[in-house]
Amino acid sequence: MNEFEKLGVDAQLTKAIQEIGFEKPTEIQEKAIPLLLTGTRDFIGLAQTGTGKTAAFGLPLLQLTDPSKKHPQALVICPTRELCMQISKDFISYKKHKAGIQTCAVYGGASISEQLKEIKKGVQILVATPGRLIDVIDRKAIDLSHIHYIVLDEADEMLNMGFREDIEYVLKHTPERQSSWLFSATMPPEVREVSKRFMKTPHEVTIGKVNMASSSIDHQYFLVLHSNRYEALKRLIDFNPGIYGLIFTRTKLDAQQITESLVREGYDVDALHGDLSQPQRDKVMARFRTKQLQLLIATDVAARGIDVKGISHVINYELPDDPEIYTHRSGRTGRAGLTGICMSIVTPKEKSRMDQIERFVKAPFHKLDIPSGTEVCRKQFFHFIDKMFAADISHGEYETYLSALKERFENVDKEEIIKRMAALEFNRFLQYYENAADLNIRKEEKAGKKKDKFKKGGEPGREGFAKGGKYKSLFINLGQKDGFYKASFLQFVLDSSNLRKEVLGKIDMKNLNTILEIDSASASKMIKALDGKMYKGRKIKMNVSNQ
Ligand code: ADP
Ligand code: MG
Repeated sequence: MNEFEKLGVDAQLTKAIQEIGFEKPTEIQEKAIPLLLTGTRDFIGLAQTGTGKTAAFGLPLLQLTDPSKKHPQALVICPTRELCMQISKDFISYKKHKAGIQTCAVYGGASISEQLKEIKKGVQILVATPGRLIDVIDRKAIDLSHIHYIVLDEADEMLNMGFREDIEYVLKHTPERQSSWLFSATMPPEVREVSKRFMKTPHEVTIGKVNMASSSIDHQYFLVLHSNRYEALKRLIDFNPGIYGLIFTRTKLDAQQITESLVREGYDVDALHGDLSQPQRDKVMARFRTKQLQLLIATDVAARGIDVKGISHVINYELPDDPEIYTHRSGRTGRAGLTGICMSIVTPKEKSRMDQIERFVKAPFHKLDIPSGTEVCRKQFFHFIDKMFAADISHGEYETYLSALKERFENVDKEEIIKRMAALEFNRFLQYYENAADLNIRKEEKAGKKKDKFKKGGEPGREGFAKGGKYKSLFINLGQKDGFYKASFLQFVLDSSNLRKEVLGKIDMKNLNTILEIDSASASKMIKALDGKMYKGRKIKMNVSNQ
């Protein structure tokens, strides 16, 4: 009997992994597979990268999946697009001799309509990154009611990246979950907390030493074009609402300019550079220490000797030349047993320097995606709600106004109050990010011709076409006053007409109405779907505009 079969792996799966060249199970596979195959036990597997975790959860998952049922039965959630593709590729090779199991990879930065189509065809196992998964759930494109198994792969990474709310949301909304399996290289407090809240007496297995010391700083990097550096920085800040950190630049001028721009855009930041007099410097430092400033933008020289407790993030706006300076920078976070994050914005040209620094630091660096606009908005929204619940209402003075307020709110339902509250704080993010571009550099974009085509279609409104005869302009009597943003409006017309985003061109949204460019061939379908229909009690008018 083959070693894998002894663990309970069935003949078809065993055959496939033998063909791949797995002769005997790795340690984590040996410990995890028999337990996971029961399907009912929660499990935590702590093991370094390269120990074979994918097969440790993949084989049991494929074996537990019922090929006769076509609805989603399992979710694998992992931090990055690359990992998502890798896992799904591995699954495809494991299930080579198993019929009737469909898996699908769902990740950001690629066409969601293609992914939705694939889900619709009937998949049982979804491998997803948190942001895109939520997107898919929001669009009601996936039925969570029969999800039996959830795997959180690289849980520590996902939490470091700020996906806690998304993961908890999924765990809360899978009522038929029979077991959850969490895999991680380290066990920081955040991971422990999630496991405590959502797992029932998990069986925990640790392979080798889970190294806490070297993992107190998580090194992350983001590959972007030089021209997107500032925009990328802003996304990273916005995606981490509670950030308390240092941003390092190479030059004094950069420090000043970034500071000016961020201040203009409403961030609580200031610069620390060599030109400041001692009293000026003390003043800035005092404001930072008392957290009136969230971020300090500094050059290496100016940051010398700064010792501030509780810094959550160090961001390298640009990498330093000298790896040793990198360690000085990153060492400002992750102190006194707390975990810290050091993020670097890296251009393709700087990649070799990044690798050199990684070798010097002797810790793994994680390449992560710059969050999408939607992910940032979602994050901000939850942060705002958290803040609302944390607000101190113990003063009691509010009682005085309560009766008057109650009257005012008499006919307003809870949902509307939530929306209005959020809108007050949150609209600026929605507006800013509604058409936000993907800032990540994707390898495939350079190579594939097909991808180019998709890219153009995927970004309506950026090309300013409409000059040729290919597009028609449609007038519609809905606009901002109806509560639409461009993004929500697009969603609405596409959902109503069952057309694809690719058919649309520019949108010009006014307060009372909107002009929408659409591929001539699809115009009548759009009009038919919308004209004369009701929206919030008002009749929609849509026709070809002669503007
Ligand atoms: P992890 O998720 O723990 O980082 P992976 O699952 O990505 O590790 O596996 C790392 C490498 O080891 C992969 O190339 C995989 O194909 C290989 N591998 C996994 N299990 C075995 C095995 N039992 N025998 C030989 N190679 C294996
Ligand atoms: Mg892995």
